[in-house]
Amino acid sequence: MSAEAVRWSCTRCAVSVGRMDGEPTLLPTTWSGADGQILCLTCSRAQAGETAMDAAPSETSREDRVRLRRTALIEFEIDRAPEAPNRTIALACRTSSAAVLAVRTELES
Ligand SMILES: [Zn+2]
Repeated sequence: MSAEAVRWSCTRCAVSVGRMDGEPTLLPTTWSGADGQILCLTCSRAQAGETAMDAAPSETSREDRVRLRRTALIEFEIDRAPEAPNRTIALACRTSSAAVLAVRTELES
């Protein structure tokens, strides 16, 4: 994968970004590129959640899977922006600051 491209396209949702003037640009900092896949922030989040759900044992209830996905999402956001306040991460994950704090505490222990 080259460091610069005129347009970057998300492998998953096909959204693309590039400069107005058509000059090559670096992958946006909020995007991720790994394993030959380029993912926009929305898809990176979605994938973090799905990976956690897929990793759960088959007998895991739907409720527990939803909980796992939410935790994975919060972990993803904390990993992406460790300095971000809990409130900001909570908004990004559509959850409460308390839930973010709980995950953060767990990660730090
Ligand atoms: Zn995408």
